[in-house]
Amino acid sequence: MILSIEGMFKFLLILFLLFTQQTFSQIDELKRRTKTLCSPDFHGRGYVNKGDSIAAEFLKTEFQNIGVKPYYESYFQSFNLDVNTFPNEMEIYYEGKLLKPGIDFLINPNSSGRVGKLKLYEIGVNDALIVDSLKSFIQNLFSINHIEDPAVLFDMTLVSSDTVKLLRQVASKLAMFIPVVEIVNDKFTWSVGLDELFLPYIQIQENCINNDGVLSLNIYSEMHINYECRNVIGYIPSKKNNAKTIIFTAHYDHLGKMGNDTYFPGANDNASGTAMIFSLAEYFKENPSNFNIMFVAFAGEEAGLVGSKYFVENSILDLKNIRFVINLDIMGSGEDGITIVNGSLFDKEFSIMNQINKSELLVKEIKKRGPSANSDHYWFSQKGVPAFFIYTRGPNKHYHDIFDTYDSLSFAESIDIIRLLIQFVNQL
Ligand SMILES: [Zn+2]
Repeated sequence: MILSIEGMFKFLLILFLLFTQQTFSQIDELKRRTKTLCSPDFHGRGYVNKGDSIAAEFLKTEFQNIGVKPYYESYFQSFNLDVNTFPNEMEIYYEGKLLKPGIDFLINPNSSGRVGKLKLYEIGVNDALIVDSLKSFIQNLFSINHIEDPAVLFDMTLVSSDTVKLLRQVASKLAMFIPVVEIVNDKFTWSVGLDELFLPYIQIQENCINNDGVLSLNIYSEMHINYECRNVIGYIPSKKNNAKTIIFTAHYDHLGKMGNDTYFPGANDNASGTAMIFSLAEYFKENPSNFNIMFVAFAGEEAGLVGSKYFVENSILDLKNIRFVINLDIMGSGEDGITIVNGSLFDKEFSIMNQINKSELLVKEIKKRGPSANSDHYWFSQKGVPAFFIYTRGPNKHYHDIFDTYDSLSFAESIDIIRLLIQFVNQL
């Protein structure tokens, strides 16, 4: 067939439209899934209002809509964990002034709730770190006749980060028998508590509080024992017999809610990575690989990599038949490139990534790191299963705070990273 210039132009135009349309819908779907996971209806994908379970149902439906089947009859793999939660009131007043949750104060994830007043008594670093001084400080507080209950106040703003670590160990022990308050001046970073202290433990920003005075608390906490979580698993078998399996993983859980009105959307961490494994599922459903491809959306990551530990210890497939695991966590930016944890362990695979990236001009830079127990690839590595953990780097520094929102994601390199991962699988 010989095309005229006009015909050739039309042909190229159609190709261009086809290509961009596909790319547009791919990024639209990625954004839709990310945004849905971050919405208030999912309650921060934690344990209040079963936000994690709502997310699990959503992900199951997404697998069904794409046409990706479960590995056995169910998409779900259940396991249990103990978790402390804050499902209701979360009010703190300092000297009558209402403090804003997540901005002015954070509650320690292991803290108990309390309704009542606390009078603050600051403890010096030396008193806190010398056992006898600490004892007499506490005894003295209990001997005073108070209207309000006493609480020990730690000022963390003027001490080194190593000393802060030591003081926090002391504070956690103290919070078993006297309430504890910390004054801080660095960025808030929340997490998930797996057990409960007897008493309240609160962090307050230094611009909201003096080193004495009275706090009024109206805080409710609730400990769940054996809370049921679910990993969500989809599977696309290879047409080849005896094919090895590639597993794409991403945790979909996040920190949930800190009281009625405050939730942690967990957009970058890790709605972004979860949505990305569904983009890959869409691709491999349409373009089957020589490998079996499994997609695992893990629960319980923020509670200490619990879902991935359960998956590896109760594996539904022979771990020896896994060719490679690619774990995606914090995938919402990429302006500065990506980093591959375990990149320095697997030279061959790392150089495949780099060659694809160089020839296709995808992301700015691929950095490699050694092993680290910082996400769900860890348990695979511990069992000798080759695994990479990939995260994006960029100007978005919101992490484990209420500002890690859908609107703060740039999706700068999402399409390029998806291409990189598809090429990587094709070249393994
Ligand atoms: Zn994460």
